[in-house]
Amino acid sequence: MAQRVDLDGKPVAAMSICMIGGGGFIGSHLCEKLMAETSHKAVVVDVSSEKINHLLGESHPWSSRIEFHHMNIKNDSRLETLIKASDLTINLAAICTPADYNTRPLDTIFSNFIDAIPVVSTSFFNCLIFNNLNTPILHVMQIKYCTENNKRLIHFSTCEVYGKTIGSFLPEEFRKDPKYYMLKEDVSPCIFGPVEKQRWSYACAKQMTDRLIYAEHAENGLKFTIVRPYNWIGPRMDFIPGVDGPCDGVPRVLACFSNNLLRREPLKLVDGGRSQRTFLYIKDAIEAVLLMIDNPERANGQIFNVGNPDNEVSVKELAELMIQVYAKVAGVPSSSLSTLDVSSEEFYGKGYDDSDRRIPDMTIITRQLGWKPETPLDKLLDDTLQYQHQTYSSAIKKVLSKPSN
Ligand code: NAD
Ligand code: UDP
Repeated sequence: MAQRVDLDGKPVAAMSICMIGGGGFIGSHLCEKLMAETSHKAVVVDVSSEKINHLLGESHPWSSRIEFHHMNIKNDSRLETLIKASDLTINLAAICTPADYNTRPLDTIFSNFIDAIPVVSTSFFNCLIFNNLNTPILHVMQIKYCTENNKRLIHFSTCEVYGKTIGSFLPEEFRKDPKYYMLKEDVSPCIFGPVEKQRWSYACAKQMTDRLIYAEHAENGLKFTIVRPYNWIGPRMDFIPGVDGPCDGVPRVLACFSNNLLRREPLKLVDGGRSQRTFLYIKDAIEAVLLMIDNPERANGQIFNVGNPDNEVSVKELAELMIQVYAKVAGVPSSSLSTLDVSSEEFYGKGYDDSDRRIPDMTIITRQLGWKPETPLDKLLDDTLQYQHQTYSSAIKKVLSKPSN
């Protein structure tokens, strides 16, 4: 492989990267990229390897550069050893499907805050140990170790930390001004709904972890990058209920609508599908992550919005576009596919709430990394729905042909 150089023309040295939660949707695409285009080594930690099994195994040309550790980070002390042995840690592990935020708020908060603490903050974690076991030496040693060994962390936060836009609280005529809806890393407030709206448990836990990382940086010199993904979508996202996930599971919108299309049932529009989102193709997103990995001097100490402001649609428009694209992919008339309005309480249960609009301001990522998204929404949906159809249509046919009990 030719010597790769960073954005300043310096050679990129091969690194060992500990990817916690690296067996998921984003992790699987990042592993593919690292194996195919770099010399970096991936040390993947996850409770499942299903989405990266095609990269594992002795017979692979890159078998010496990727290893999988089946581990639940909640209760496995081996994690610390793996982090110490790596040059960079990327933390992706989380519960991040909105249907869980109001129905499993405790798991959501623990997974996105408490379980992340050993990964992001040795001092905070060891303060806990210090308090419990009264071993101050361990506390000091760990901070010293982190500082001396110059460990870097790339942590996956979320655009959801911004919550609702300022514009959503203003009369209609004010909402058109970008300053009331554009989300800026260093300016925008985080606006969540009341505690009873448990939807915000995820955003709140993620925000606490962001603040903990920032505090570790300010007080102890932690080298960090925080990534805020804006609805990254593509192949291998989540699961299709009843095929490779639980029958009553509710994945994120791409997989929900794919499932509806594969089963020829109406696409359910929560509260009329009026919320707006910007969708970014996973392959564009991974380019941005690789730039962060390879350019620590430009990425350290930064919080990056990573999204595609040009791909904004309402959820209703997304459903209509997916119907048009899927009709072509599956060779069926689009008139055979439809939408259905459902209330959020009926779909998600009590305590659901929603972000009204999410447009990333791109100033910081453009300035630091020169990254720009490329793939328009119709192209990314075409690629993704071809994948969904090829991967799942026969399995769905089998499921549908079984008599229901
Ligand atoms: P994902 O669910 O596909 O991946 C998360 C992975 O973490 C899964 O493979 C899961 O098994 C693993 N994991 C969870 N808890 C674990 C534990 N205790 N021990 C070991 N492994 C554990 O989700 P994703 O879309 O790949 O998201 C990755 C990260 O990016 C998450 O932190 C998420 O909050 C963030 N994010 C993603 C998006 C997006 O658009 N996909 C948007 C906002 C934020
Ligand atoms: N949504 C919908 N129908 C579905 C699934 C989701 O209308 O079958 C809506 C959901 O209410 C939200 C948007 O689609 O407004 C995006 O939901 P997703 O689960 O992808 O995550 P979010 O962007 O809210 O984090």
